[in-house]
Amino acid sequence: MKNKKGKNKVVLVCSECFSRNYAINKSSGVNENLQFKKYCKNCNKMTIHKETK
Ligand SMILES: [Zn+2]
Repeated sequence: MKNKKGKNKVVLVCSECFSRNYAINKSSGVNENLQFKKYCKNCNKMTIHKETK
């Protein structure tokens, strides 16, 4: 398996309970700290998820 450059796997953590709920692939070149509103099982509601490494 070759490791292609340009794809970064980022983990999205809930901003309230900090549980790691989602993993996405982000193309390189996007440096902004993206925020996603997603459902958190731990909080049992929609919360802001932020990317982490
Ligand atoms: Zn949460």
